[in-house]
Amino acid sequence: MAETKKKTTEVIITVPHVVCDENGENCDTYAKYFSAILGDEFINNNIKIIRIISKTNRLKKDDNRFPVTGEFGEAMLKALNREETKSLFDVHSFPKTKDSPYDFYFLELTGTEYRSNIRTRDFYLDVLSDLKDANLKGTIMGATHENANVYTARKYGKNAFLCEFSRLLTTPQAKTICKSLVKYYIHYYHIEEEEKKEEGFFM
Ligand SMILES: [Zn+2]
Repeated sequence: MAETKKKTTEVIITVPHVVCDENGENCDTYAKYFSAILGDEFINNNIKIIRIISKTNRLKKDDNRFPVTGEFGEAMLKALNREETKSLFDVHSFPKTKDSPYDFYFLELTGTEYRSNIRTRDFYLDVLSDLKDANLKGTIMGATHENANVYTARKYGKNAFLCEFSRLLTTPQAKTICKSLVKYYIHYYHIEEEEKKEEGFFM
């Protein structure tokens, strides 16, 4: 990668599920915190970020579902329209249970023309390999195109990734994951357009 030229680009970080309902439920309790760690990691690597945080509980208006409207949706579309914006990270957190023993996973679109390509797969696998080295359990799960933020970003020709962090992660563990995400993001995506090779779908 030594000959690869770096380029100034921006990354959008969307955080759609931060607002809890009146019972303190139906929300991603630590997504905002993890998105801040991810944002700091990009900034530390001289990559500008635009962070968009929902102000609405998902039961009233889910900001990761169609239609892409309202304050959150409009801010995301505005950011996606910027030429400097190359990518979007959609950040979520989930409760770790016996059914879902993972510390982190990528939720990847299936059954749509906007599902990920080989480059995305390699990005995922390198991150997951780092996690394994750090004794963290990660995987890739399949989702539908209903995940509006990743779907819309890809429709706009951007790279997009849905990242699910376990609520039980410690801050050092979350930092390890975010460092790996940014390290391999730079390796695979923060490069000149002509260096890109799209090689078909994998999911
Ligand atoms: Zn979520």
